[in-house]
Amino acid sequence: MNHKRPDILLIQVDQLHSRALKAYGGISDTPNIDSLFARGVAFESVTVQCPLCQPSRASLWSGIYPHRTEVLSNGRKWPCPVFTERLPTLGEVFTQGGYKTIHFGKRHDSGALRGFELVEEDETFVPDENPAWPYNFDTYNDQYATDRAVEFFSSNADDKPLLAVVDLINPHNICGWVGKNKGEHHDVPVDTLPPLPPNFTFGDISNRSRSIQYICCAHIRQAQASLWNGENFRHYLAAYNHYLHLVDRQIGRVLDTLKQRGKLDDTIIVFFSDHGDALAARASVTKHTAMYQELVEIPLVFCGGGIQGRKKMVGGLVQSLDLAPTLCEIAGLPIPASFDGMSLIPSLEEGHAPKREYAVSQWHTEWGYTVEPCRMIRTQKWKYLHYLEDDFEELFDLESDPYEMTNVAQDSENAEVLVYHKGLFKRYLKETGDPYLSLVAKADKRWREHEVGYDKHSGITAPEA
Ligand code: ZN
Repeated sequence: MNHKRPDILLIQVDQLHSRALKAYGGISDTPNIDSLFARGVAFESVTVQCPLCQPSRASLWSGIYPHRTEVLSNGRKWPCPVFTERLPTLGEVFTQGGYKTIHFGKRHDSGALRGFELVEEDETFVPDENPAWPYNFDTYNDQYATDRAVEFFSSNADDKPLLAVVDLINPHNICGWVGKNKGEHHDVPVDTLPPLPPNFTFGDISNRSRSIQYICCAHIRQAQASLWNGENFRHYLAAYNHYLHLVDRQIGRVLDTLKQRGKLDDTIIVFFSDHGDALAARASVTKHTAMYQELVEIPLVFCGGGIQGRKKMVGGLVQSLDLAPTLCEIAGLPIPASFDGMSLIPSLEEGHAPKREYAVSQWHTEWGYTVEPCRMIRTQKWKYLHYLEDDFEELFDLESDPYEMTNVAQDSENAEVLVYHKGLFKRYLKETGDPYLSLVAKADKRWREHEVGYDKHSGITAPEA
């Protein structure tokens, strides 16, 4: 009976916003990722539950919101608990359901990958191909993880159905690239430079929360980019696209192995990311605090195993939390009552939007040096944000202002919209038991001092204190 259950391969990458990919209008050189979109059914708007690695991943693998996992940061001065034994994980559901589960590559899960056989994490050196784009442990980890995954897929003869995760880190090597190019500098010349995004210039910063105004004081990468000019940001985008191309090559090796074994068509492959990247929007790099589309919206595609939807790109609001129940339904396994998401199977098959009124994302802190709790409530047209610091609100019209250039929360013509979204926000807090309003924001005066603007940044950032 087990033999009828499909093999499933999850491919996760780190720090990929959907707009970077061709399937979502981008200019990436990613033929292997593109092939998944060509064969499959994708979702247009997928929100991660926190735009930061560890909270996002813990939420994904446990199927519950970050405030329930209690994994709210990447660690250091805000340590995270090991994911509770009292709640099931995706890995456990599949293991108990008769699947072989195996995970290669990056974890950063605070224990939520429990139930998976975890292949050790290590590095294999990869020489730089171009001095403009130096490699670090992110790229070395991906080489090691892909080598192990290729070995496994080349020889796996297990009778059980398979749930495998190939968890790759690139294009995250871009974070190290920022460090190598910090401050005023001359870039190593490259052949072509991508254009800056329409929202590169950020004229509305005085109308944003203080945590947004002072990302440069809380986040080392934004501080390192504070003196960059437009040309430097174009080099950032070129480097980003290169690291994205690198991870695409690794994905190609895995897909080729499945093809050689005659398993490519029968395996259900799901591709996604843990969060996005600023992509030079608002003269910003990597990710921190902000809930902009570049940071909270990720690609998501399902292909193979006979998945054939009525539409290639499905609209509506999806959350990364939806992945866990969807996978359970694909495998014919019971969906645990604790899971917060909804199965996407009806939308995959019929092409209609999931029945969801709003999507949520949460922020607490990256390393505990500044603590800036924030919640995002996004409906199809609008995005409402609440920051605990100063009880500050932002509202964006995503239809007329998809690049979030203007915060219209104070505009009297939007008063009704604001009231409606505040109502959704309160309902969300109540229904999910999110203790947001009892949390405490913490930002030392030193991190709120200089004139507003990332280019005005001076001195050290919080993590250097
Ligand atoms: Zn600053």
